Amino acid sequence: MLLESDTQLNQKSYYEASVVRRAPESALAGALSADVLVVGAGFAGLSAAIEMAQQGLSVVVLEADRVCSGASGRNGGQAIVGFSSGQAPFEQQLGVSDARLAWDMTIEAIALIDERIARFGIECDRVAGYLYVADSARKARLLENDMKILQRDYGFASEFASGTDTQRLIGSQRYCAAAFEPVSGHLHPLKYGLALADAARSLGVRIFEHSAVQAIERGATLLARTAAGRVTAKFAVLAGNCTLREHGPHVAPEITPRIMPVGTYMVATAPLDPALCRRLIPSNASACDNNFILDYFRFSADHRMLFGGGVSYSTMTPRRLAQTMGARMCQVFPELKGVPLDYVWGGFVDISMNRAPDFGRLGDNLYYLQGFSGHGVALTGLAGRLVAQAVAGQAARFDVFARLQHRQFPGGVLFRTPSLVLGTLYHRLRDLL
Ligand SMILES: Cc1cc2nc3c(=O)[nH]c(=O)nc-3n(C[C@H](O)[C@H](O)[C@H](O)COP(=O)(O)OP(=O)(O)OC[C@H]3O[C@@H](n4cnc5c(N)ncnc54)[C@H](O)[C@@H]3O)c2cc1C
Repeated sequence: MLLESDTQLNQKSYYEASVVRRAPESALAGALSADVLVVGAGFAGLSAAIEMAQQGLSVVVLEADRVCSGASGRNGGQAIVGFSSGQAPFEQQLGVSDARLAWDMTIEAIALIDERIARFGIECDRVAGYLYVADSARKARLLENDMKILQRDYGFASEFASGTDTQRLIGSQRYCAAAFEPVSGHLHPLKYGLALADAARSLGVRIFEHSAVQAIERGATLLARTAAGRVTAKFAVLAGNCTLREHGPHVAPEITPRIMPVGTYMVATAPLDPALCRRLIPSNASACDNNFILDYFRFSADHRMLFGGGVSYSTMTPRRLAQTMGARMCQVFPELKGVPLDYVWGGFVDISMNRAPDFGRLGDNLYYLQGFSGHGVALTGLAGRLVAQAVAGQAARFDVFARLQHRQFPGGVLFRTPSLVLGTLYHRLRDLL
Protein backbone atom coordinates (compact mmCIF):
# COMPACT_ATOMS: atom_id res chain seq x y z
CA MET A 1 0.00 0.00 0.00
CA LEU A 2 1.56 3.30 -1.07
CA LEU A 3 -0.06 5.37 1.66
CA GLU A 4 1.14 3.12 4.46
CA SER A 5 4.77 3.05 3.37
CA ASP A 6 4.60 6.76 2.51
CA THR A 7 3.52 7.65 6.05
CA GLN A 8 6.12 5.38 7.64
CA LEU A 9 8.88 6.90 5.53
CA ASN A 10 8.39 10.34 7.07
CA GLN A 11 8.80 9.26 10.68
CA LYS A 12 12.54 9.86 11.06
CA SER A 13 12.94 12.92 8.90
CA TYR A 14 15.62 15.49 9.65
CA TYR A 15 13.34 18.16 8.26
CA GLU A 16 10.42 17.32 10.58
CA ALA A 17 12.88 17.26 13.50
CA SER A 18 14.23 20.70 12.63
CA VAL A 19 10.97 22.69 12.44
CA VAL A 20 8.23 23.52 14.90
CA ARG A 21 4.90 22.92 13.23
CA ARG A 22 1.87 24.97 14.23
CA ALA A 23 -1.12 23.11 15.71
CA PRO A 24 -3.02 21.15 13.05
CA GLU A 25 -5.65 23.04 11.08
CA SER A 26 -9.14 21.72 11.69
CA ALA A 27 -10.60 19.31 9.16
CA LEU A 28 -13.29 20.61 6.83
CA ALA A 29 -16.79 20.20 8.25
CA GLY A 30 -19.92 21.42 6.47
CA ALA A 31 -20.27 23.31 3.20
CA LEU A 32 -18.05 26.07 1.79
CA SER A 33 -17.76 27.85 -1.50
CA ALA A 34 -14.79 29.57 -3.12
CA ASP A 35 -13.58 30.76 -6.49
CA VAL A 36 -10.88 28.09 -6.46
CA LEU A 37 -10.38 24.79 -4.68
CA VAL A 38 -6.82 23.46 -4.45
CA VAL A 39 -6.36 19.76 -3.67
CA GLY A 40 -3.06 19.16 -1.87
CA ALA A 41 -0.91 21.48 0.25
CA GLY A 42 2.51 20.64 -1.15
CA PHE A 43 4.64 23.18 -3.04
CA ALA A 44 2.47 22.97 -6.17
CA GLY A 45 -0.87 23.48 -4.41
CA LEU A 46 0.46 26.23 -2.13
CA SER A 47 2.06 28.06 -5.02
CA ALA A 48 -1.20 27.96 -6.98
CA ALA A 49 -3.10 29.16 -3.90
CA ILE A 50 -0.71 32.10 -3.34
CA GLU A 51 -0.82 33.21 -6.96
CA MET A 52 -4.60 33.03 -7.16
CA ALA A 53 -5.12 34.80 -3.85
CA GLN A 54 -2.82 37.54 -5.16
CA GLN A 55 -5.24 37.92 -8.06
CA GLY A 56 -8.04 38.56 -5.58
CA LEU A 57 -9.68 35.13 -5.90
CA SER A 58 -11.03 33.32 -2.84
CA VAL A 59 -9.14 30.05 -2.36
CA VAL A 60 -9.70 26.94 -0.24
CA VAL A 61 -6.92 24.34 0.10
CA LEU A 62 -7.84 20.83 1.20
CA GLU A 63 -4.97 18.66 2.38
CA ALA A 64 -5.41 14.96 3.15
CA ASP A 65 -2.64 14.91 5.76
CA ARG A 66 -0.62 17.91 6.97
CA VAL A 67 0.86 20.84 5.04
CA CYS A 68 3.96 19.63 3.16
CA SER A 69 3.80 16.17 4.71
CA GLY A 70 4.33 14.71 1.21
CA ALA A 71 7.32 15.02 -1.10
CA SER A 72 7.56 18.79 -0.60
CA GLY A 73 8.55 18.42 3.04
CA ARG A 74 10.98 15.56 2.55
CA ASN A 75 13.06 16.19 -0.56
CA GLY A 76 16.73 16.87 -1.19
CA GLY A 77 15.97 20.58 -1.16
CA GLN A 78 17.77 20.93 -4.49
CA ALA A 79 16.17 23.70 -6.51
CA ILE A 80 17.35 22.90 -10.01
CA VAL A 81 16.93 24.54 -13.40
CA GLY A 82 15.62 22.41 -16.27
CA PHE A 83 13.60 19.23 -16.32
CA SER A 84 14.24 15.66 -15.28
CA SER A 85 13.61 14.70 -18.92
CA GLY A 86 16.11 17.20 -20.27
CA GLN A 87 14.95 19.31 -23.20
CA ALA A 88 14.38 16.42 -25.64
CA PRO A 89 10.58 15.95 -25.22
CA PHE A 90 10.08 19.71 -25.57
CA GLU A 91 12.28 20.02 -28.66
CA GLN A 92 10.80 16.92 -30.29
CA GLN A 93 7.14 17.60 -29.54
CA LEU A 94 6.92 21.40 -29.44
CA GLY A 95 9.83 22.64 -31.54
CA VAL A 96 12.82 24.78 -30.73
CA SER A 97 11.00 27.98 -29.89
CA ASP A 98 8.63 26.50 -27.29
CA ALA A 99 11.44 24.34 -25.91
CA ARG A 100 13.32 27.59 -25.29
CA LEU A 101 10.26 29.11 -23.62
CA ALA A 102 9.96 26.07 -21.35
CA TRP A 103 13.64 26.25 -20.43
CA ASP A 104 13.42 29.95 -19.64
CA MET A 105 10.46 29.25 -17.38
CA THR A 106 12.65 26.90 -15.32
CA ILE A 107 15.06 29.79 -14.74
CA GLU A 108 12.04 31.88 -13.71
CA ALA A 109 11.11 29.07 -11.30
CA ILE A 110 14.37 29.61 -9.39
CA ALA A 111 13.86 33.37 -9.38
CA LEU A 112 10.32 32.84 -8.06
CA ILE A 113 11.69 31.06 -4.99
CA ASP A 114 13.91 34.06 -4.23
CA GLU A 115 11.06 36.48 -4.92
CA ARG A 116 8.88 34.71 -2.37
CA ILE A 117 11.69 34.46 0.16
CA ALA A 118 12.11 38.24 -0.12
CA ARG A 119 8.42 39.15 -0.26
CA PHE A 120 7.29 36.97 2.64
CA GLY A 121 10.50 37.13 4.72
CA ILE A 122 11.01 33.36 4.53
CA GLU A 123 13.91 31.81 6.43
CA CYS A 124 14.79 28.52 4.75
CA ASP A 125 18.60 28.27 4.63
CA ARG A 126 18.76 29.16 0.93
CA VAL A 127 22.14 28.62 -0.77
CA ALA A 128 22.99 29.21 -4.45
CA GLY A 129 25.21 26.91 -6.50
CA TYR A 130 24.97 23.52 -8.13
CA LEU A 131 27.44 20.78 -9.05
CA TYR A 132 26.78 18.12 -11.66
CA VAL A 133 29.27 15.27 -11.18
CA ALA A 134 30.26 12.27 -13.31
CA ASP A 135 31.88 9.05 -12.11
CA SER A 136 33.19 7.52 -15.37
CA ALA A 137 34.83 8.70 -18.59
CA ARG A 138 31.63 7.95 -20.54
CA LYS A 139 29.49 10.01 -18.14
CA ALA A 140 32.10 12.80 -18.09
CA ARG A 141 31.77 13.08 -21.89
CA LEU A 142 27.97 13.08 -21.54
CA LEU A 143 28.10 15.82 -18.92
CA GLU A 144 30.48 17.97 -20.95
CA ASN A 145 28.33 17.54 -24.03
CA ASP A 146 25.09 18.36 -22.16
CA MET A 147 26.63 21.50 -20.72
CA LYS A 148 27.94 22.60 -24.13
CA ILE A 149 24.47 22.15 -25.64
CA LEU A 150 22.87 24.15 -22.82
CA GLN A 151 25.37 26.94 -23.44
CA ARG A 152 24.97 26.86 -27.25
CA ASP A 153 21.18 26.43 -27.51
CA TYR A 154 19.92 27.97 -24.28
CA GLY A 155 22.65 30.43 -23.32
CA PHE A 156 23.13 28.68 -19.97
CA ALA A 157 26.74 28.85 -18.81
CA SER A 158 28.57 26.54 -16.43
CA GLU A 159 32.15 25.88 -15.43
CA PHE A 160 33.41 22.43 -16.46
CA ALA A 161 36.33 20.63 -14.82
CA SER A 162 37.75 17.18 -15.52
CA GLY A 163 40.62 14.94 -14.43
CA THR A 164 42.45 16.08 -11.31
CA ASP A 165 40.95 19.57 -11.74
CA THR A 166 37.61 18.04 -10.65
CA GLN A 167 38.80 17.99 -7.05
CA ARG A 168 38.87 21.76 -7.08
CA LEU A 169 35.05 21.62 -7.23
CA ILE A 170 34.39 18.52 -5.13
CA GLY A 171 36.56 16.71 -2.59
CA SER A 172 35.75 13.21 -3.79
CA GLN A 173 38.01 10.86 -5.78
CA ARG A 174 34.90 9.13 -7.10
CA TYR A 175 34.31 11.77 -9.73
CA CYS A 176 36.36 12.43 -12.84
CA ALA A 177 34.38 15.46 -14.02
CA ALA A 178 32.13 18.15 -12.59
CA ALA A 179 30.26 21.20 -13.82
CA PHE A 180 29.34 24.11 -11.56
CA GLU A 181 26.57 26.62 -12.20
CA PRO A 182 25.48 29.41 -9.86
CA VAL A 183 21.74 29.54 -10.69
CA SER A 184 20.39 26.36 -9.07
CA GLY A 185 20.93 25.76 -5.37
CA HIS A 186 19.33 24.40 -2.24
CA LEU A 187 17.06 25.19 0.70
CA HIS A 188 15.37 23.55 3.69
CA PRO A 189 12.21 22.35 1.97
CA LEU A 190 9.98 21.99 5.00
CA LYS A 191 10.87 25.44 6.37
CA TYR A 192 10.14 26.82 2.91
CA GLY A 193 6.86 24.90 2.52
CA LEU A 194 5.49 25.81 5.95
CA ALA A 195 6.34 29.45 5.24
CA LEU A 196 4.51 29.23 1.91
CA ALA A 197 1.45 28.04 3.81
CA ASP A 198 1.77 31.01 6.18
CA ALA A 199 2.12 33.32 3.17
CA ALA A 200 -1.04 31.83 1.67
CA ARG A 201 -2.92 32.30 4.95
CA SER A 202 -1.73 35.92 5.10
CA LEU A 203 -3.40 36.42 1.71
CA GLY A 204 -6.69 35.02 2.97
CA VAL A 205 -6.36 31.42 1.75
CA ARG A 206 -8.29 28.95 3.94
CA ILE A 207 -6.32 25.72 4.53
CA PHE A 208 -7.88 22.56 5.99
CA GLU A 209 -5.73 19.60 7.03
CA HIS A 210 -6.84 15.97 7.38
CA SER A 211 -9.42 16.71 4.71
CA ALA A 212 -8.93 14.28 1.84
CA VAL A 213 -10.97 15.03 -1.26
CA GLN A 214 -12.72 11.77 -2.03
CA ALA A 215 -14.57 12.78 -5.18
CA ILE A 216 -15.25 15.79 -7.38
CA GLU A 217 -18.46 16.24 -9.33
CA ARG A 218 -17.59 18.05 -12.53
CA GLY A 219 -19.52 20.75 -14.35
CA ALA A 220 -19.65 24.54 -14.64
CA THR A 221 -19.46 24.51 -10.85
CA LEU A 222 -17.30 21.85 -9.26
CA LEU A 223 -18.36 20.05 -6.10
CA ALA A 224 -15.68 18.35 -3.99
CA ARG A 225 -16.54 16.02 -1.13
CA THR A 226 -14.48 15.08 1.92
CA ALA A 227 -15.55 12.73 4.73
CA ALA A 228 -17.33 15.54 6.61
CA GLY A 229 -17.65 18.45 4.21
CA ARG A 230 -17.97 19.78 0.70
CA VAL A 231 -16.66 22.69 -1.30
CA THR A 232 -18.20 24.22 -4.40
CA ALA A 233 -15.84 26.16 -6.64
CA LYS A 234 -15.63 27.65 -10.12
CA PHE A 235 -12.15 26.21 -10.63
CA ALA A 236 -10.08 23.48 -9.02
CA VAL A 237 -6.42 22.54 -9.14
CA LEU A 238 -5.36 18.96 -8.47
CA ALA A 239 -1.91 18.96 -6.87
CA GLY A 240 -2.09 15.65 -5.01
CA ASN A 241 1.05 14.00 -6.41
CA CYS A 242 1.46 10.23 -5.93
CA THR A 243 -1.18 9.75 -3.24
CA LEU A 244 -4.04 11.46 -5.10
CA ARG A 245 -5.27 8.12 -6.40
CA GLU A 246 -5.41 6.50 -2.97
CA HIS A 247 -7.02 9.40 -1.15
CA GLY A 248 -9.48 10.05 -3.93
CA PRO A 249 -9.74 7.12 -6.33
CA HIS A 250 -12.56 8.79 -8.26
CA VAL A 251 -11.14 12.30 -8.38
CA ALA A 252 -9.21 11.98 -11.65
CA PRO A 253 -8.77 8.34 -12.68
CA GLU A 254 -7.91 9.37 -16.25
CA ILE A 255 -4.61 11.05 -15.27
CA THR A 256 -3.24 9.08 -12.32
CA PRO A 257 -2.04 6.09 -14.43
CA ARG A 258 0.26 8.50 -16.25
CA ILE A 259 2.49 8.82 -13.18
CA MET A 260 4.29 6.17 -11.24
CA PRO A 261 5.34 6.48 -7.57
CA VAL A 262 9.05 5.79 -7.20
CA GLY A 263 10.56 5.66 -3.72
CA THR A 264 13.72 7.65 -3.03
CA TYR A 265 15.56 7.94 0.28
CA MET A 266 17.74 10.24 2.33
CA VAL A 267 20.00 10.16 5.37
CA ALA A 268 21.33 13.01 7.50
CA THR A 269 24.60 12.58 9.39
CA ALA A 270 25.37 14.08 12.78
CA PRO A 271 26.72 17.65 12.45
CA LEU A 272 30.24 17.67 10.97
CA ASP A 273 33.26 19.91 11.44
CA PRO A 274 32.58 22.95 9.19
CA ALA A 275 36.18 22.74 7.92
CA LEU A 276 35.50 19.20 6.67
CA CYS A 277 32.35 20.41 4.90
CA ARG A 278 34.36 23.13 3.16
CA ARG A 279 36.93 20.55 2.05
CA LEU A 280 34.31 18.18 0.63
CA ILE A 281 32.18 20.78 -1.17
CA PRO A 282 34.11 24.08 -1.18
CA SER A 283 31.23 26.03 -2.78
CA ASN A 284 28.61 24.53 -0.39
CA ALA A 285 26.61 23.80 -3.57
CA SER A 286 24.20 20.93 -3.83
CA ALA A 287 25.38 18.09 -6.01
CA CYS A 288 23.95 15.35 -8.15
CA ASP A 289 25.53 12.75 -10.42
CA ASN A 290 24.31 11.91 -13.91
CA ASN A 291 23.51 8.25 -13.31
CA PHE A 292 20.03 6.97 -14.10
CA ILE A 293 19.73 5.94 -10.45
CA LEU A 294 21.30 8.99 -9.03
CA ASP A 295 22.98 10.14 -5.85
CA TYR A 296 22.19 13.69 -4.69
CA PHE A 297 23.73 15.41 -1.70
CA ARG A 298 24.49 18.66 0.05
CA PHE A 299 25.18 20.09 3.48
CA SER A 300 22.48 21.44 5.76
CA ALA A 301 22.84 24.77 7.53
CA ASP A 302 23.91 22.90 10.67
CA HIS A 303 26.67 21.07 8.74
CA ARG A 304 25.07 17.67 8.31
CA MET A 305 25.61 15.76 5.11
CA LEU A 306 22.16 15.17 3.60
CA PHE A 307 22.65 12.30 1.19
CA GLY A 308 19.90 11.00 -1.06
CA GLY A 309 19.55 8.27 -3.60
CA GLY A 310 18.42 4.70 -4.08
CA VAL A 311 15.10 3.91 -5.61
CA SER A 312 12.26 1.50 -5.08
CA TYR A 313 9.73 0.73 -7.77
CA SER A 314 7.68 -1.59 -5.60
CA THR A 315 6.50 0.98 -2.98
CA MET A 316 8.18 -1.33 -0.39
CA THR A 317 10.85 0.36 1.71
CA PRO A 318 14.23 -1.34 1.04
CA ARG A 319 15.59 -3.39 3.94
CA ARG A 320 18.58 -2.06 5.90
CA LEU A 321 17.90 1.37 4.41
CA ALA A 322 20.23 3.37 6.68
CA GLN A 323 23.14 0.96 6.16
CA THR A 324 22.69 0.93 2.40
CA MET A 325 22.43 4.71 2.16
CA GLY A 326 25.40 5.13 4.51
CA ALA A 327 27.48 2.80 2.33
CA ARG A 328 26.57 4.80 -0.80
CA MET A 329 27.52 8.01 0.96
CA CYS A 330 30.92 6.60 2.03
CA GLN A 331 31.67 5.51 -1.54
CA VAL A 332 31.47 9.21 -2.40
CA PHE A 333 33.10 10.57 0.76
CA PRO A 334 35.17 7.86 2.55
CA GLU A 335 36.01 10.47 5.23
CA LEU A 336 32.45 10.08 6.50
CA LYS A 337 32.94 6.44 7.48
CA GLY A 338 31.83 5.94 11.06
CA VAL A 339 29.92 9.24 11.28
CA PRO A 340 26.53 8.53 12.90
CA LEU A 341 23.44 8.76 10.73
CA ASP A 342 20.97 10.69 12.88
CA TYR A 343 18.01 10.56 10.48
CA VAL A 344 16.75 8.38 7.66
CA TRP A 345 13.58 9.00 5.67
CA GLY A 346 12.16 8.93 2.19
CA GLY A 347 9.16 9.51 0.00
CA PHE A 348 7.76 9.03 -3.46
CA VAL A 349 8.38 10.98 -6.62
CA ASP A 350 5.77 11.15 -9.34
CA ILE A 351 7.57 10.15 -12.49
CA SER A 352 5.94 10.39 -15.89
CA MET A 353 6.89 8.04 -18.75
CA ASN A 354 9.08 10.63 -20.49
CA ARG A 355 10.09 12.38 -17.21
CA ALA A 356 8.61 15.67 -18.41
CA PRO A 357 6.00 17.42 -16.24
CA ASP A 358 2.36 16.62 -17.00
CA PHE A 359 0.08 19.68 -16.65
CA GLY A 360 -3.36 20.07 -18.18
CA ARG A 361 -7.10 20.41 -17.69
CA LEU A 362 -10.06 18.07 -17.47
CA GLY A 363 -12.92 20.01 -19.01
CA ASP A 364 -12.66 23.79 -18.77
CA ASN A 365 -12.16 24.32 -15.09
CA LEU A 366 -10.41 21.34 -13.48
CA TYR A 367 -6.62 21.74 -13.74
CA TYR A 368 -3.95 19.25 -12.76
CA LEU A 369 -0.21 19.47 -12.03
CA GLN A 370 1.75 16.22 -11.83
CA GLY A 371 4.75 14.33 -13.20
CA PHE A 372 7.48 16.54 -11.73
CA SER A 373 9.65 13.41 -11.91
CA GLY A 374 11.96 14.23 -9.01
CA HIS A 375 12.55 17.77 -10.26
CA GLY A 376 9.77 19.60 -8.46
CA VAL A 377 11.36 21.84 -5.83
CA ALA A 378 11.55 24.79 -8.20
CA LEU A 379 9.16 23.68 -10.94
CA THR A 380 6.16 23.32 -8.63
CA GLY A 381 6.33 27.04 -7.85
CA LEU A 382 6.26 27.92 -11.51
CA ALA A 383 3.44 25.40 -12.11
CA GLY A 384 1.31 27.20 -9.53
CA ARG A 385 1.98 30.52 -11.24
CA LEU A 386 1.10 29.11 -14.68
CA VAL A 387 -2.15 27.55 -13.53
CA ALA A 388 -3.16 30.83 -11.89
CA GLN A 389 -2.45 32.67 -15.13
CA ALA A 390 -4.56 30.13 -17.03
CA VAL A 391 -7.46 30.58 -14.61
CA ALA A 392 -7.16 34.34 -15.20
CA GLY A 393 -7.55 33.72 -18.95
CA GLN A 394 -3.86 33.90 -19.90
CA ALA A 395 -3.17 30.30 -20.70
CA ALA A 396 -0.38 30.60 -23.30
CA ARG A 397 2.43 29.63 -20.94
CA PHE A 398 0.44 26.89 -19.21
CA ASP A 399 -0.42 25.49 -22.63
CA VAL A 400 3.23 25.11 -23.59
CA PHE A 401 3.19 22.30 -21.03
CA ALA A 402 -0.39 21.18 -21.62
CA ARG A 403 0.45 20.47 -25.27
CA LEU A 404 3.09 17.89 -24.32
CA GLN A 405 1.79 14.38 -24.96
CA HIS A 406 2.06 11.86 -22.12
CA ARG A 407 1.47 8.14 -22.17
CA GLN A 408 0.21 5.82 -19.47
CA PHE A 409 2.71 3.36 -18.05
CA PRO A 410 2.42 0.01 -19.85
CA GLY A 411 0.46 -2.46 -17.76
CA GLY A 412 -1.79 0.20 -16.23
CA VAL A 413 -1.88 0.93 -12.51
CA LEU A 414 -1.56 -2.70 -11.42
CA PHE A 415 1.18 -3.96 -13.70
CA ARG A 416 3.18 -0.83 -14.44
CA THR A 417 5.78 -1.69 -11.79
CA PRO A 418 7.23 -4.87 -13.39
CA SER A 419 7.68 -3.22 -16.77
CA LEU A 420 9.39 -0.24 -15.19
CA VAL A 421 11.68 -2.49 -13.17
CA LEU A 422 12.77 -4.28 -16.35
CA GLY A 423 13.54 -0.96 -18.01
CA THR A 424 15.43 0.14 -14.94
CA LEU A 425 17.62 -2.97 -14.80
CA TYR A 426 19.05 -1.96 -18.15
CA HIS A 427 19.84 1.51 -16.87
CA ARG A 428 21.35 0.13 -13.64
CA LEU A 429 23.80 -1.85 -15.78
CA ARG A 430 24.61 1.21 -17.87
CA ASP A 431 25.28 3.21 -14.68
CA LEU A 432 28.22 0.87 -14.05
CA LEU A 433 29.95 1.93 -17.29
C1 LIG B 1 13.03 11.95 -0.92
C2 LIG B 1 12.74 12.91 -2.04
C3 LIG B 1 13.77 13.70 -2.53
C4 LIG B 1 13.51 14.63 -3.55
N1 LIG B 1 14.51 15.49 -3.89
C5 LIG B 1 14.25 16.48 -4.77
C6 LIG B 1 15.22 17.47 -5.03
O1 LIG B 1 16.29 17.51 -4.42
N2 LIG B 1 14.94 18.41 -5.98
C7 LIG B 1 13.75 18.43 -6.64
O2 LIG B 1 13.54 19.32 -7.49
N3 LIG B 1 12.77 17.54 -6.35
C8 LIG B 1 12.99 16.57 -5.43
N4 LIG B 1 12.00 15.70 -5.11
C9 LIG B 1 10.68 15.85 -5.75
C10 LIG B 1 9.90 17.01 -5.15
O3 LIG B 1 9.91 16.92 -3.75
C11 LIG B 1 8.46 16.98 -5.69
O4 LIG B 1 8.51 17.05 -7.11
C12 LIG B 1 7.58 18.10 -5.19
O5 LIG B 1 7.70 18.28 -3.82
C13 LIG B 1 6.13 17.78 -5.56
O6 LIG B 1 5.29 18.72 -4.95
P1 LIG B 1 3.73 18.49 -5.00
O7 LIG B 1 3.11 19.68 -4.36
O8 LIG B 1 3.34 18.16 -6.40
O9 LIG B 1 3.46 17.17 -4.18
P2 LIG B 1 3.45 16.87 -2.60
O10 LIG B 1 4.43 17.67 -1.88
O11 LIG B 1 3.58 15.39 -2.47
O12 LIG B 1 2.03 17.34 -2.15
C14 LIG B 1 0.86 16.68 -2.52
C15 LIG B 1 -0.11 16.79 -1.34
O13 LIG B 1 -1.41 16.40 -1.77
C16 LIG B 1 -2.04 15.72 -0.72
N5 LIG B 1 -3.13 14.93 -1.31
C17 LIG B 1 -3.04 13.85 -2.13
N6 LIG B 1 -4.28 13.43 -2.46
C18 LIG B 1 -5.16 14.27 -1.86
C19 LIG B 1 -6.58 14.35 -1.82
N7 LIG B 1 -7.34 13.47 -2.50
N8 LIG B 1 -7.15 15.32 -1.08
C20 LIG B 1 -6.40 16.23 -0.40
N9 LIG B 1 -5.04 16.19 -0.41
C21 LIG B 1 -4.44 15.21 -1.12
C22 LIG B 1 -0.92 14.88 -0.11
O14 LIG B 1 -1.22 14.52 1.21
C23 LIG B 1 0.26 15.83 -0.21
O15 LIG B 1 0.45 16.59 0.97
C24 LIG B 1 12.21 14.74 -4.12
C25 LIG B 1 11.18 13.93 -3.64
C26 LIG B 1 11.44 13.04 -2.61
C27 LIG B 1 10.32 12.19 -2.11
